[in-house]
Amino acid sequence: MSAPLSAYEEIVGSSVTRQIRQIGEKLRGIRIVHVNSTREGGGVAEILGWMIPLMLELGLDASWEVLRGTPRFFEITKSIHNALQGGIVAVNGKDWKIYHDVNAENLETLRGTLSDADIVVVHDPQPAYLLPLCEGRKGKWIWRAHIDVSRPFRPVWKVLRSIVGKYDASIFSMAEFAQPLPHPQFLVPPSIDPLSEKNRDIDATELEAVRGKFGLDPARPLLVQVSRFDRFKDPVGVIAAYKMVRKVAPVQLVLAGGGATDDPEGKAVFDDVTEAAEGDPDIHVLLLPPDAHTTINALQRLADIVLQKSTREGFGLTVTEGMWKGKPVIGGDVGGIRLQVVNHHTGFLVNTPEGAAHRIRYLLHHRERIRSIGETGREFVRENYLLTRHLRDYLTLILAVLQGDGERIIYM
Ligand code: UDP
Repeated sequence: MSAPLSAYEEIVGSSVTRQIRQIGEKLRGIRIVHVNSTREGGGVAEILGWMIPLMLELGLDASWEVLRGTPRFFEITKSIHNALQGGIVAVNGKDWKIYHDVNAENLETLRGTLSDADIVVVHDPQPAYLLPLCEGRKGKWIWRAHIDVSRPFRPVWKVLRSIVGKYDASIFSMAEFAQPLPHPQFLVPPSIDPLSEKNRDIDATELEAVRGKFGLDPARPLLVQVSRFDRFKDPVGVIAAYKMVRKVAPVQLVLAGGGATDDPEGKAVFDDVTEAAEGDPDIHVLLLPPDAHTTINALQRLADIVLQKSTREGFGLTVTEGMWKGKPVIGGDVGGIRLQVVNHHTGFLVNTPEGAAHRIRYLLHHRERIRSIGETGREFVRENYLLTRHLRDYLTLILAVLQGDGERIIYM
């Protein structure tokens, strides 16, 4: 259940919510339909879960449709997804045919809703084929890419590009992810909800309960990385950094993640992590259930330093979450982490375990920097990465698309 817009006033100020209401006023009554391929799980569903109610509150006629697919369809779209993120993954003619057919079947039920809408926002590749099939559409269609399309596997991108190029506009999370397309492109980074269970304020009793549950020592510094057990998140590199620091400071480390057991690759990474952590009672490797929002919130708040030592990263919501909790973040110098970690101001960008260890030691020796960098980070998130900014970006770009004259511009 998401909070009303007024609940965010206290966090972002009334001028921000007023501006949102003013833009919303201009869009009153327009019919906007979002289409993605899952109602639950993942960042896109989470964002739509709060965005639709807020758009409705503003008077837009907003709705959310979900594409239905077969297991084979989702295998194919996973391959497309991996190829767009640079994986050398072939998608053959038969696969593209299945992709087409599932979109065509879905259009049978969605046609009425989609062809009448003023704005249709199609999220990611799965439902992208709806547009070429939807003849006689009335409104403007926008393709929203949530993934890193900066270095796609060309044969797959060539086909997808011919589909998404037909849209009236597209949205990417950052400039590096955008691709040449024959329409206006908008840059809209993701956001976190400061009132959600993952990010809301937590009182001391709840914090202490989580500290006690995992046997963390309140007297010693705590390093925390929250991430799926994935090689690109480099949990083994985090342990290497911790071990270097451990020689000179009595630190503790939490590596918290989930979903490892049903993902063969995740399981292998989890096994490597447990092996690297073996014999050290101060390394806490936690396998959490998918709804462990309060636990993650508390662990990020209990941390002295938040780590996100990824070697590849789309945006890195865990970085935003850590910064919002007033923590300095030591992050890999990649992808969306670079948007958030302003070196020496909101945290440190690193390329190696040695680099991470060096920055951890520096912060532990300069406790006042932990506080000041953390505060700067929190304000940076308040300004740039909360859902109110995200909503305002959406409203502004909808206005621009509705009034657009087809110029090929990128809005920032
Ligand atoms: N997360 C979670 N449980 C876990 C690991 C991660 O709820 O075991 C959350 C994390 O708090 C963040 C999101 O999942 O909100 C991960 O987003 P991010 O952009 O950091 O990485 P991704 O997993 O999308 O690559």
